[in-house]
Amino acid sequence: MSDVRLVLRSQRVLTPEGARPASVAVGDDGLIAAVLPYDTEVPPGAVLEDVGDDAVLPGLVDTHVHVNDPGRTEWEGFWTATRAAAAGGITTLVDMPLNSLPPTTTAEHLRVKREVAGPKAHMDVGFWGGAIPGNVGELRGLHEAGVFGFKCFLSPSGVEEFPELNPEELAAAMAEIASFDGQLIVHAEDPGRLASAPQKGGPAYADFLASRPRAAENDAIALLIELAREHGTRVHILHLSSSDALPLIADARSEGLPVTAETCPHFLTLTAEEVPDGATEFKCCPPIREKENQDALWAALSEGTLDCVVSDHSPCTADLKTPDFGQAWGGISSLQLGLPAIWTEARRRGHGLEDVARWMSRAPARLAGMTGKGAIAPGCEADFAVLAPEETFTVDPASLHHRNQVTAYAGRTLHGVVRSTWLRGERIADHGTPAEKKTGRLIERKTA
Ligand SMILES: [Zn+2]
Repeated sequence: MSDVRLVLRSQRVLTPEGARPASVAVGDDGLIAAVLPYDTEVPPGAVLEDVGDDAVLPGLVDTHVHVNDPGRTEWEGFWTATRAAAAGGITTLVDMPLNSLPPTTTAEHLRVKREVAGPKAHMDVGFWGGAIPGNVGELRGLHEAGVFGFKCFLSPSGVEEFPELNPEELAAAMAEIASFDGQLIVHAEDPGRLASAPQKGGPAYADFLASRPRAAENDAIALLIELAREHGTRVHILHLSSSDALPLIADARSEGLPVTAETCPHFLTLTAEEVPDGATEFKCCPPIREKENQDALWAALSEGTLDCVVSDHSPCTADLKTPDFGQAWGGISSLQLGLPAIWTEARRRGHGLEDVARWMSRAPARLAGMTGKGAIAPGCEADFAVLAPEETFTVDPASLHHRNQVTAYAGRTLHGVVRSTWLRGERIADHGTPAEKKTGRLIERKTA
């Protein structure tokens, strides 16, 4: 066992068994050596960091981030994304395979991405691969090179270099992925349903909402469940918005099918009723829906039909957010704000920080198969988010470390101030300021 170099002490440490006063001993190896009683004597040579009443959560694991680097780095890059994420309490992120150039659809493209990300990673960074028409022969190589799974679309993705799969291509990809026990993660909207919905464009949010109906999600999810049953492929539903699809997912799970699902801070904290016309910083696909839909998503999180809450941080430059919902880029930026946004609504609904830690750290770590992350327990990596849960702040876009300071949360008052963020026992952000020293690593499925 390595020497203890840090003791992090708090009245509220979020362990897998619940919140309790504790002293977390961190070894020279960056792992948690032990979770000890609060007033344990600090070993000689170790530094004591006493955070008092501030809560210590396991560092957040955000498995849904579009970093866009290389190729669209003016939208977001690894330098800016990982610093913003660190300021927001995240310690590990997994990058989506699209919106960068090249997209992560071959092992060679993955190598390029890793080369770009390595020198810029302020936290641990892993990669999803992509399944697109014609690359089914690349999937095994990508899997062996360490991607955490494969993303696909069933409808247009928004960028031409990452086309959607048709039902035959989807079935072929699922069979291939099942052959090496990989995982498929899916943007689930049915193209036929989208094509037959009215596509009016313009500034009215109601028209945009009507253009991306719940039925598009419901039908796509029904197809995916059918194919999961047929091929045995592990399937994860990305950014679920339509609460009408929840019974389908719940039934698939009770049938024992390997189906999981996530939702996002914007679906859980913002509602269609409050989006001003022309406010395309709220545009994402699938869209933010009605208040009644949101209540059902919260109920599904409580019951466990939804596993995790991840950002789907998908930024762009400000000029692409034109006030026309038909034209504007779809994507919401929230990397630095997800934890306070979720905590604000969770506490209002009677949830505790242990729920937030489960949804935003433990469950996403499990989704990606990261055994050493997502928990404050001996042997896990010493990754922490220190949060002042009762303190509030008003979102000022100028304080965000995102590459572009466009956000749907501007002006909102949120509960929960991230005091500091720790990666393997090193402070990577302090009072909203990312550390200059770069301590992140590139992580792979087999080693994480
Ligand atoms: Zn996304």
